[in-house]
Amino acid sequence: VKNEASRPNRYSSWQLDRIHHRRDDAEWLAERAQDPSTRVILHRGTEHAVIEGDSGRLELARVTTSIELCEAHPPEDWTLLGELDGVVHFAAHIDEPALATFAPDARLEDLRAAGGLVSDADAGLMAMTRGLAVWRDGHRYCGRCGAPTRLASAGHALTCTSEACGRTQYPRIEPAIIVLVHDGDDRCILARAHRHPSGMHSVLAGFVEPGESLEDAVAREVFEEVGVRITDIAYHSSQPWPFPASLMLGFTARATTFDIVVEDAELRTAGWFDRRSLRESREDETFRGPRGESIARRLINEWLEAAP
Ligand SMILES: [Zn+2]
Repeated sequence: VKNEASRPNRYSSWQLDRIHHRRDDAEWLAERAQDPSTRVILHRGTEHAVIEGDSGRLELARVTTSIELCEAHPPEDWTLLGELDGVVHFAAHIDEPALATFAPDARLEDLRAAGGLVSDADAGLMAMTRGLAVWRDGHRYCGRCGAPTRLASAGHALTCTSEACGRTQYPRIEPAIIVLVHDGDDRCILARAHRHPSGMHSVLAGFVEPGESLEDAVAREVFEEVGVRITDIAYHSSQPWPFPASLMLGFTARATTFDIVVEDAELRTAGWFDRRSLRESREDETFRGPRGESIARRLINEWLEAAP
């Protein structure tokens, strides 16, 4: 039985036990920071230390904890990621000289470039680290009183340093819907957005606004972007998309009107495409699909496979 929708998308971290209850366990964290079985992945902001694997593949550099590493980058500043295959993983933000010292064979790569070249487990760790790094970088000061914040809960919270305020904040995820609109038969809508690389056609997407249900957002975005009314809005699957802070919520929907009117400034063009032309597309400068690891690509591929 095919149950495609429950298959995890890339950048999810289903293999990881986040051991949430350990984030505030200072004694346990200090012990793990000294434990030679612990592994530390290194990042500089949104870039990760990776090493070359076989045939162009990449893998995260996993550094054994050491006195030198702890002195250069105190464990209090590390992020507890969780347990992967029984091994405790932290992430440590490092500078370039530290990279040469602790991972001399590694180089720094952003997930955007490396996302398709690493294992699913590494992609999940990188997405988690990237999302937290971007969030912390944008919240160095308290949004309520303006005092500096400090790391708490092993990197998963920020607490205001003002005693009078003391507000603790947690990472914010921005929900975005992404939807494949079909005509109930053999055509679907693909669009080219100004932000997309040359020739790239994809399904429609947009952010959920306050006071909207996901279904409201799907219907509004489709009408705003292409002027089409829809029904049969069905949830498909979700994908963490830490570029910088989204969670993509994937849907399919059936059009009830078919004239496409592009009035949205974000889009260049949009149109109906049939399965045959999509299957025969050459993936070149004039027409290419979305990135292979994206939920957009998966929505299109699964619709192509589900020929009526
Ligand atoms: Zn404050």
